[in-house]
Amino acid sequence: ELQPLVNKIENQKITIDEQLSVLKQKNQEIHNILENMQDGLIILNQDLKVLAFNKSAEKIFNLQNDGENINDDLMIAIHAAINNKKPIIKQLHIEQFIYEAIIALIINDGQIDGLTILIKDITIQTSQEKFRQEFSSNVSHELKTPLTSIVGFAEIMKNGMVDPADVEDIANDIYQEAKRLINLVNDIIHLSRLDDNESTFESNSFLLSSVIERVFNSLESKAKTKNIELIYEENDISFYGIETLIEELVFNLCDNAISYGIDNGYVKVELKNENDTLVLSVKDNGIGISSIDQDRIFERFYRADKSRLKKSGGTGLGLSICKHIAIIHGGRIEVLSKPAEGSCFKVYLPLNKNS
Ligand code: ADP
Repeated sequence: ELQPLVNKIENQKITIDEQLSVLKQKNQEIHNILENMQDGLIILNQDLKVLAFNKSAEKIFNLQNDGENINDDLMIAIHAAINNKKPIIKQLHIEQFIYEAIIALIINDGQIDGLTILIKDITIQTSQEKFRQEFSSNVSHELKTPLTSIVGFAEIMKNGMVDPADVEDIANDIYQEAKRLINLVNDIIHLSRLDDNESTFESNSFLLSSVIERVFNSLESKAKTKNIELIYEENDISFYGIETLIEELVFNLCDNAISYGIDNGYVKVELKNENDTLVLSVKDNGIGISSIDQDRIFERFYRADKSRLKKSGGTGLGLSICKHIAIIHGGRIEVLSKPAEGSCFKVYLPLNKNS
């Protein structure tokens, strides 16, 4: 008699077991997602006891099992969120990282039941933003300097305050400043093109000797003014890459080597193939670079010796462009230098099967 009831109970047990296993699986899925989330997550109850936290939150705050160790700044923001009954976004600086914590209240029937805190690592975005701000303020400053000079010269000429004998000199100053302005604008446009990886530069296979020859030809007269010898001991290597950019890289390095070289000195270009890596070096026996400056010369607008700027006509962007060109080709650039002895810039570029 009882058999149908027993069967029913058994069937129900099977259904419950199935439902439980589905629930367990769902629970596990949510747990896995939360645990493997890039962002940190902490859940607190209304007494601010930590109910749960994921692996990322544990790492960021070095949390113990009971969730102790919540950052003081975060605690202040949590109290502010509760007092104002409003979600709060707070920036936290922990070691070298910058995080953004979004504190949201869990409200049930008008009562605060608890809080969720989502913590995002925003270090990279923040530094990129800072970099962009610095760059635009540098650009404005760099553009303003030559323009101010040009306006100043033009003004004294306009007011008839210039001795006719000085007109030529002043016109020359205006010309130099205007040229610097054009170089600067060109370099800035060029850098932003290099920044934009989508740029449509075409790669092809070419001989580096012809690149070096062209660079030497265009720098010959500049080198002559200081009686600097341009040396390239032919050891030709074929390279697959963006020829115009590689030519620009070699040009910038040789141009600098002459600008910062000494009278009667030399500039020597060498090519080597080291384990399928092209090592292109440009060596000079010029003024050299102090070790403090060596770390910074690849930064945009950084110049080791600001007083030489006018004479060299540089923009402070040349080496930054070189660094970008090396990176675009999957390579890197480094400098070895000693003040008063000279500098050697080495560019390492992978040689691929198309070379
Ligand atoms: P610039 O337009 O001022 O030459 P770069 O980015 O090409 O800008 O170079 C940055 C700075 O690095 C220069 O202002 C100079 O101080 C230093 N520098 C570059 N090349 C050399 C070199 N061959 N010898 C000495 N100093 C150099």
